[in-house]
Amino acid sequence: MPEVGVVAIQGDFEKHILALERCEIPDLDVREVRVPEDLADVERVIIPGGESTTVGMLMERFGLGQALQEKATEGLPIWGTCMGMILMASKVEDRDQYSLNLLDITVRRNAFGAQVHSFEDEVQVDGLDEAVTGVFIRAPIVTECRGDAKPIATYDGRVVAVRQGNLLGTSFHPELTDDTRLHHWFLGF
Ligand code: GLN
Repeated sequence: MPEVGVVAIQGDFEKHILALERCEIPDLDVREVRVPEDLADVERVIIPGGESTTVGMLMERFGLGQALQEKATEGLPIWGTCMGMILMASKVEDRDQYSLNLLDITVRRNAFGAQVHSFEDEVQVDGLDEAVTGVFIRAPIVTECRGDAKPIATYDGRVVAVRQGNLLGTSFHPELTDDTRLHHWFLGF
């Protein structure tokens, strides 16, 4: 089975590794990714939740950002959850921070307000029969989709998941639930 890389600079990458193990796919190889060399045999990549300013700065410094950009152009599937989606967005509202510039979207960080740091609710994602539990932690929303970036889930009228070909972004954290459907879906990209 293909090697899945999980960007392991900071954030909840261990939760994604556990979620991939819960998928129970025989011989699925999971690799922690920090520097460009770690991408050598990787066939898809997950960028977890965390602190986008810190991770963006380190990705740039390690050269991992540029390596991911090159691989994405070659068709490597990449999924960003929360911080990961922020880093993949071509534009972040009111901020000038490092961007991988992969998803043709604008995001608003911490969009659910200071007092609502974290909550869970059902989210219907296009292509899945039943809703998933969306765990939102200081979560961003997508305020604009351009070009081939298409919304695939909304919550309370706001876009919380997008797909652009081989690229996927979710505002919420499926790795923090027992439900592996989104991980399974991404492994099929
Ligand atoms: N608010 C964080 C950021 O802007 C993202 C939070 C998360 O990944 N859970 O980086």
